[in-house]
Amino acid sequence: MTDPNTESPDLRHTSNFLRDLIAEDLRTRKFGDAVIQTRFPPEPNGYLHIGHAKAIFLDFGLADEFLGKTNLRFDDTNPEKEEQEYVDSIQKDVRWLGFEWERLCYASDYFPQLYVWALQLIKNGKAYVDDLTADEIRQHRGTLTEPGKDSPFRNRSVEENLDLFERMKAGEFPDGSRVLRAKIDMASPNLNLRDPVMYRILHATHHRTGDQWCIYPMYDFAHGQSDSIENVTHSMCTLEFADHQPLYKWYIEQLGIFPSQQIEFDRLNLTYTLLSKRKLLQLVEEKRVNAWDDPRMPTLSGLRRRGFTPEAIRAFCASIGATRTNGVTDIEMLEHFQRDDLNRRAQRAMAVLRPLKLVIDNYPEGQEEFVEVANNPEDPAAGTRQVPFSREVYIDQDDFRELPPPKYYRLSPGKEVRLRNAYFITAQSVQKSADGSLTEVHCTYDPASRGGNSPDGRKVKSTMHWVSAPHAISAEIRLYDKLFSKPDPYDVEEGQDVLSNLNPNSLEVLSDAKLEPSLAEAELGDHFQFERVGYFCLDPDSSETKKIFNRTLPLKDTWAKIEKKSGT
Ligand code: ATP
Ligand code: MG
Repeated sequence: MTDPNTESPDLRHTSNFLRDLIAEDLRTRKFGDAVIQTRFPPEPNGYLHIGHAKAIFLDFGLADEFLGKTNLRFDDTNPEKEEQEYVDSIQKDVRWLGFEWERLCYASDYFPQLYVWALQLIKNGKAYVDDLTADEIRQHRGTLTEPGKDSPFRNRSVEENLDLFERMKAGEFPDGSRVLRAKIDMASPNLNLRDPVMYRILHATHHRTGDQWCIYPMYDFAHGQSDSIENVTHSMCTLEFADHQPLYKWYIEQLGIFPSQQIEFDRLNLTYTLLSKRKLLQLVEEKRVNAWDDPRMPTLSGLRRRGFTPEAIRAFCASIGATRTNGVTDIEMLEHFQRDDLNRRAQRAMAVLRPLKLVIDNYPEGQEEFVEVANNPEDPAAGTRQVPFSREVYIDQDDFRELPPPKYYRLSPGKEVRLRNAYFITAQSVQKSADGSLTEVHCTYDPASRGGNSPDGRKVKSTMHWVSAPHAISAEIRLYDKLFSKPDPYDVEEGQDVLSNLNPNSLEVLSDAKLEPSLAEAELGDHFQFERVGYFCLDPDSSETKKIFNRTLPLKDTWAKIEKKSGT
């Protein structure tokens, strides 16, 4: 039997070019005796999403495989957008995914060192203070086909640059009035090398350094140097940074510091999903979702609340690997790994989401009995439980038709079906309210079919789940669907925002579901398969008196079909 807590070992050995590259660097002793060191460098400006899970899996997973180490480093150089709330949530989510960092680092811890290195570049004639405005700098930069123009401040003396930079740091100048730029090549075909900005003036309070600094390093000047300080051997990032790599190298070479190397891999894109903290923040701020951990969000906290598991997310990440070209992955593939995991671990239970009362006329009034049910047919070790049965049970409204359409094999007047693990029953009559809506179905049962077994070899075409009415607990059920209605949420009419593609039916609330009594003991973090319905978990909004369950996924696995068709 498979232990649901360990993923199959071969998943970790799917080939990926990053693994090959690290192995080669070890073979050639590119970094001498240094151990493999990686880092996961989130900016604390939002909650982590499933795209980050891929980066985390690669950063931590590969280091681990080569007996290396991984730091969690907050790339906190943008004081205006960063918050402690995000710092805390990121640590929680990385641990939840199953990874532990060697060291917890902050780019802001390196501000003093970065400042010293900036002075060093100025002294070497490799950096200058520029008084042009941001707009003017943009205009001077040129285009892909035209070279840029030198700033009139490009040839300031070292003394003047040192003086101005120190006064920038001392707070003498207003925001945006000056920047420090690297002096590289205004005609470079790579726009990132046309004298990139290293420091800007920003009188903002930083979540860690407070008001100590009013100049802040740009991403490009902070990232590689932070890697170097931490002896990072393999700095893995997504492909959009490929054009920044020459600049990453230039700073390290000019400063003569530890030669960290940047390697780019493909960003995860998922159908029907937005993976951008900025856009996800917009959903939260505009109250299109309830919070960062709304179960419809692709954030790790949202997925967790929805009932996704770290094991399934890791298995998904292992299977997608890493490549050098961006693509789009079907959301169904992630769901497939989640179903696979839950099928193994989820405890089975019976729950009727849209109840219809069934009265068994020939079952003695006041009698109750217990039927024995397997907790998880996939895992005999999960044992069995006793489920109460009585004269009145609930079935799902979808499981009865007074006038059955062709090929409808579930319950209808005169038809016999099986109540799972209980008895064969035959519908006899219906009761309706004054307005004509169905209130009760009356039926008879065959006492000889106890346990749901045919007494004489006669067959029924349908087996239905049920919940004993007097024993049932009521609950709220939240059914989730895709948050966006198009496979590519960015596919919008001109002038429209992506949010115009939000699926208006992404949440359906059923307020009076009937659940078997064992679910009264459900706890946060438990996973259930409501038989014939889907996978569910308890929502933290639940109280002592009111249970709320989230649907993680319905049972149907469309990905398995896609996979079969394409033969992969
Ligand atoms: P976002 O646009 O969502 O803010 P980001 O790249 O700005 O993403 P960071 O916090 O800077 O987010 O990212 C930390 C790490 O996670 C980086 O190495 C980044 O490349 C990686 N990462 C972010 N999004 C994805 C994704 N969709 N797929 C793979 N890796 C990602
Ligand atoms: Mg970013």
